[in-house]
Amino acid sequence: MLNSIAWALAALFAAGPALADDKELNLYSARHYQADEALYANFTEQTGIKINRIEGKAHELIERIRNEGANSPADVFITVDAASLAVADAWGIFAPVKSKLLESRIPVHLRSDNWFAFSTRARMIIYNKRKLKAEDVATYESLADPKLKGLYCSIPGGHIYNLTFVASLLAHNGEAKTEEWARGLVANFARAPKGGDTDQIKSVASGECGVAVSNSYYLARLMASEKVEERNLVKRLGVVWPNQNGRGTHINVSGGGMVKTAKHREAAVKFLEYLASDEAQRYFANGNNEWPAVPTVSISNEELDELGKFKADNISLIKVADQLSAAQKLLDRAGYR
Ligand code: FE
Repeated sequence: MLNSIAWALAALFAAGPALADDKELNLYSARHYQADEALYANFTEQTGIKINRIEGKAHELIERIRNEGANSPADVFITVDAASLAVADAWGIFAPVKSKLLESRIPVHLRSDNWFAFSTRARMIIYNKRKLKAEDVATYESLADPKLKGLYCSIPGGHIYNLTFVASLLAHNGEAKTEEWARGLVANFARAPKGGDTDQIKSVASGECGVAVSNSYYLARLMASEKVEERNLVKRLGVVWPNQNGRGTHINVSGGGMVKTAKHREAAVKFLEYLASDEAQRYFANGNNEWPAVPTVSISNEELDELGKFKADNISLIKVADQLSAAQKLLDRAGYR
């Protein structure tokens, strides 16, 4: 009897180091696109590390990791929008990752000590060509111009895409100017804010609104749509890369990091480094019509090529994220719901 317990214990201890030799990785992902399947399959092929994926909305996954605490199986958390990364970071769910490779591949304004961006999307201005001209809406600031009264359509003020966007205005223009701007937008509303970016684009095309802002990939999706009516509605739209004569167009990201309580830490770092590789960058970006975060990687994407090159705002996303709660308060004060 004693002998068999001793054997069982010995087997347990022997299993210890074997477990550390990461053969799997638990990925919590708030990003789910078709092309991501190939992305994960290639990682397993290259490393022999199997990926177990749990998908959900960003806030649900953050909540889940917090509730699971030290026992969380999560090794890597991936999400969209700098605001989600910042919220996860503020809750302390990330562990710092030191990687020479990641530091050399991902530009400094697209990462923190705790997370890395792997693709970028731009916040574009989209207008109805029958109602406005490009020069009427050349900057984000111009959207508050009283001559756009009754023309601006928006997602809800507290939507994370809007929060990050307004946080970037705050980081550049300061509180007084940004609050005045937000009040100007509210005064220009064509209707109460509702829906997502695609709804705004469609409302601009239908003429319900004159102008809106949207993440670039939603426009690219409509341009590439199999539905002829969606491709046709794009023809009624004018598209502006905002603030080209100044700081450049607001950029947001998809990204992720290693979870603080990760059990497969080696695999986690390997996976993050893999996401910065040329091949993975192409899958990760192209899968959602985004741009690679690694500047030396180029993709061929018909719709993005058609939208053309632009000057991107290179402000650090950490500086933008620092303004998120101020952005929410400012929008509340301005009555931007
Ligand atoms: Fe989106």
